Formats: sequence, C-alpha cells, structure tokens
Amino acid sequence: MPERVVVVGAGVIGLSCALRLLEAGHRVDVLARELPLETTSAVAAALWYPYLALPQDKVTAWSATSYDVFAGLADDPATGVAMRRGTELLTEQSEDPWWIDAVPALERVAPRAPYRDGWSFVAPVIDMSRYLVWLHGRVLDAGGTVTRMALPQLPEGPLVVDCSGLGSRHLASDPTTTPVRGQVVVLEQVGLDQWWLAEDGPTYVVPRTHDIVVGGTDDAGEWDRTPSPDTADDVLRRATALVPQLAGARVLRHKVGLRPARPEIRLERVGDVVHCYGHGGAGVTLSWGCAADVVTLVDGVTA
Ligand SMILES: Cc1cc2nc3c(=O)[nH]c(=O)nc-3n(C[C@H](O)[C@H](O)[C@H](O)COP(=O)(O)OP(=O)(O)OC[C@H]3O[C@@H](n4cnc5c(N)ncnc54)[C@H](O)[C@@H]3O)c2cc1C
Repeated sequence: MPERVVVVGAGVIGLSCALRLLEAGHRVDVLARELPLETTSAVAAALWYPYLALPQDKVTAWSATSYDVFAGLADDPATGVAMRRGTELLTEQSEDPWWIDAVPALERVAPRAPYRDGWSFVAPVIDMSRYLVWLHGRVLDAGGTVTRMALPQLPEGPLVVDCSGLGSRHLASDPTTTPVRGQVVVLEQVGLDQWWLAEDGPTYVVPRTHDIVVGGTDDAGEWDRTPSPDTADDVLRRATALVPQLAGARVLRHKVGLRPARPEIRLERVGDVVHCYGHGGAGVTLSWGCAADVVTLVDGVTA
C-alpha cells in the first residue's frame, strides 16, 4: 500500500532508497543536513568493491545486485557510471576473494614485484560528482523532494528510513557507528582507462572520464576532515609506484571523507523506522542492493 515515507540522509544510500521507494509508488520526502554533493558519498572514488563492510553473505548479495544495476546505468553517459577493467595486487598468495560470486568473472594475473598474487575483473566506476547529481534529479523527476534540514532526532512517523550514515551515532543513539577517515587526491586525466588496487596501503588509482582519484588511507576513529599535506605526498608516492604513468600529473583537488563504519551494516525495521546505515567503505557498492531490501521492509515483508 502506498505510504508517505521520510528518508533521512541524501548520500548515496538515502537517494537510492528514495528512488526505489518512489518507483514502488510511495510518496517520499528526503531530509538531510548535507545535500548530495556535500556528503561523504561525494568523496568516494568510487570503484565498485566490497571494502570495510560486513556481514560477508549479505554484502556479497547486495554488491551483486548493485553490480547489475550499475552495469545497466553505464549505457547512459549522463549517469557518470562506466564499466572498467582493473587489477588488484596482493601481498600474499590468496584464495579467491569472499565476494567472488558478486562479479561475473575474475581472472588471476601474474603479479609483478613486490606483489605475490593478483586478479583482474571488470567493475563499475562511478564518478560521484556526476552520479549524485543524476540520482538527485531522478528523485525529483519521480515526484520526491530533497530538503536541507539538520534534525535533532529522527522524525515522528509516518514511516522513516534512516540513511544518516555517521549521523546514526546521534539519531539512532548508536555508538557502534564510527568514522574511518579516508583522504584522496584528484589528478588530471593522463589517458588512463584501467583501475588499480594494491592491498598494501591500501593504494588505489581510479580513472574517471575527466580526472583520476588516487588514495588511500583508512584511519579508524579519526574525525579530522582537513586534508594533510604529508598524507597527500604519501598517497601520491604510493599511487605513482603502482601506476608510473601518473608521474607529474597535475593535482586538481584534495578531499577527505569519514566512512560510516560499523561492525555490521544495520538494515532492519524497528516499528515505523527502517534503519539503513553503517556501509563503511562500500556504500556505493552496496547502494542498490540495500535499497531493494529497504523497499521490502517498508512494504512490511521480512527481507
Ligand atoms: C576516501 C573515500 C573513498 C571511498 N571510496 C569508495 C569506493 O570506491 N566505493 C564505495 O562503494 N564506497 C567508497 N567509499 C565509502 C562511501 O563513500 C560510503 O560508504 C558512503 O558514502 C556512505 O553513504 P551514506 O549515504 O550512508 O552516508 P553519507 O554520504 O555520509 O550521507 C549521510 C547523510 O545523512 C545526513 N545526516 C546525518 N545526520 C543528520 C541529521 N542529524 N539531520 C539530517 N541529516 C543528517 C547527512 O547530512 C547526509 O546527507 C569511500 C569513502 C571515502 C571517505
């Protein structure tokens, strides 16, 4: 039955849930302290990759759903989504990754020193500066609203979907959501079309249409949102060692985001509130899978 739903949060999770709820026939109003391009989601690289997110079985299923949706969106350049092949290099010989069922194919590659293993696969790369604008537009086109509002507490009914990320510490009184700071450097595009990921660091190089995002850092419990010049130098050194083609590339921007980490993602309905937060380093990767389960919970069926 159609309901009026208030979605709290306008990051990738809130907007994806809002769009799926609108498509299911609900009336949806999004309330958020930060609008889409001001959120943590806007800092994401964003490579489809299940990172810093648990539990493994659900994360694999949610990631697989999102993979398929993003593969479809890549047909439309306005979305900012592209399917790109890339390589992950590992410091030890490893079993297949636990999320292997979420990708159509994964090929082992001969690692180069100092790495001891590696694999290659095609993954969605999402340019968040374009994707969030597109997603926001889809929500409005479908009849939803997005309004800036800093909430002191979750609204009283009718039905609330809590996609507040780190804000859940306060709004859901949940101290188990904690920040994992990530700093990236955005470089000019130098003709790169494949992504690279190395386990040490971790270090990643994610090419988009007009620029390249390189990272990264994962400092648990760190709240500082000011980019550190020393960290930027270290990120650039590691990224250039991984992809020598980056040497001398012009730096366009420095960015910091606080990943909303949690021992396990919270996706459950408690009375008239559906909580959906704690996506760690994989909120983009999980977004469409989680949004589908949120619709099921709003409609009153156990996910
Ligand atoms: C450097 C970096 C690189 C990353 N790379 C990737 C990647 O390659 N792939 C990937 O999948 N993920 C990546 N991530 C992780 C991803 O960015 C997060 O998992 C994702 O953004 C979480 O989305 P969210 O919508 O839950 O939270 P957010 O984007 O933080 O949005 C939360 C929303 O809730 C609102 N809110 C909070 N409190 C209140 C309140 N009191 N009142 C009103 N509104 C409130 C906020 O204003 C905001 O609108 C990366 C993150 C970082 C920092």
